[in-house]
Amino acid sequence: MSQRIEPGIETRLPWLGSPITAQPLDAPRWLGWSASLAEELGIDRTPELLALLAGQTRQAHPGFAQVYSGHQFGGYTPRLGDGRGMLLGQLDGWELFVKGSGTTPYSRGGDGRAVLRSAVREFLASEALHHLGIASSRALAVLGSDTPVWREQQETAAITVRVTRSHLRFGHFEYFFYSQQPQRLEALIADCIETQFAHLHGCADQTLAWFIEVIERTATTVADWQAFGFCHGVLNTDNMSVLGETFDYGPFAFMNRFEAGYICNHSDIHGRYAFDQQPGIGLWNLNKLALTLTPFLSQEQLQMALARYEPALVARYLARMGRRLGLEHVGEGDLGLIGELFHLMQQAKLDMHLTLRTLGRCDPNGDDTPLHALLGAQPDFAAWWQRYRSRLGGVARLGAWQALRDQANPAVVLRTHLAQRAIAAAEAGNIAPLMRLHRALTRPYDPRAQDHPFIEEAPEWSQSLTLSCSS
Ligand code: AMP
Ligand code: MG
Ligand code: MG
Repeated sequence: MSQRIEPGIETRLPWLGSPITAQPLDAPRWLGWSASLAEELGIDRTPELLALLAGQTRQAHPGFAQVYSGHQFGGYTPRLGDGRGMLLGQLDGWELFVKGSGTTPYSRGGDGRAVLRSAVREFLASEALHHLGIASSRALAVLGSDTPVWREQQETAAITVRVTRSHLRFGHFEYFFYSQQPQRLEALIADCIETQFAHLHGCADQTLAWFIEVIERTATTVADWQAFGFCHGVLNTDNMSVLGETFDYGPFAFMNRFEAGYICNHSDIHGRYAFDQQPGIGLWNLNKLALTLTPFLSQEQLQMALARYEPALVARYLARMGRRLGLEHVGEGDLGLIGELFHLMQQAKLDMHLTLRTLGRCDPNGDDTPLHALLGAQPDFAAWWQRYRSRLGGVARLGAWQALRDQANPAVVLRTHLAQRAIAAAEAGNIAPLMRLHRALTRPYDPRAQDHPFIEEAPEWSQSLTLSCSS
């Protein structure tokens, strides 16, 4: 197995970081395993692999910690990097990264570890978003251990095994731009295009075509977050994947009750990364990436490319919300109808996921009963329902229409309290609830029973759960 993991980007761009060896975890064990990803990679869950991932045994080549920088909460930090993880290597074009493997030259005084709760949350979220059809870095596994870690209290160290085709972040490009290393910046862009955007080979202006694609992919992913109530929490440029994937999970949350200005990260006191700020922040971050391209592209080219962001985001948002609501030939004229529904949910303090699931089980030819039970007390609901019905213009085959809605409106969502429960059990040595939750998240549209244990509104106690950057 370990022979199949080969050195990757560091053989081509050795100045991108530092060779590094992991600090072994004490008594490592599997907490989670993505069988579908493992199958894709042709990997088996063996004791040999566990020892390798936990740093107890070494492969022929060292790991690699990358250097980058980034705008954190709006301010530029000139030097960041993989402070608690490293690339193990590459397997069939996939990069394997152990997050929580110990200190590196970029640890900045940190302990290089990840605690169980944050490692499990990243594992679950990567799987959840992927199975909702939202671009995300993947997670092959999560490991627990007996290694103690001190946060606000003593916890135990864990590792998430992150898998993606490239770990390049906007912050990588910023690092070589601001530290005035234009040749390396150029080489980095060329390598990124060659290995990750090979289909752009031969384009008239390859760098411009690449930047446009990064913009469109970012817009697509942000639109998906907005359609499914996902709040990332720390959209610093060093947490932005050049592949446009959801990347670097920290204090993220799926909203329960819809609230446009929802802030999931307790440390984000000004709400810079509030839910409704995400589309604007995506563009802000792309503007920071654009700045690093000024040596290669003109202002006109950069502005032209950036202008693609909003239409791409709106188109994707409409496509996904259109499927959720059952609107055919969806267009910008539908934004009002969608926005008003969310506004009604906010006024009624309704759970967004269950409300949309309920909507898809109504009879838009007339009977609005299930939805009426939720929204009927809102003065504007009757008018909205009429507008929606006339927009649909009658549904011919109701059963088929409702079945399609069920395939677009997830029943199982990674609610914070569900993750918390699974984490508490895992911390106490019982991983069965975590395994059950993980399995449910891999088929979010298709729960076998109505009384599915994970289909429930967030209980009142969980509305006050807070998440911070501590991980
Ligand atoms: P994040 O908020 O997760 O994006 O992390 C910001 C920076 O802090 C990154 O460069 C991380 O590698 C680093 N970092 C986070 N936690 C630790 C830790 N426990 N030890 C060392 N570095 C860390
Ligand atoms: Mg980060
Ligand atoms: Mg992080």
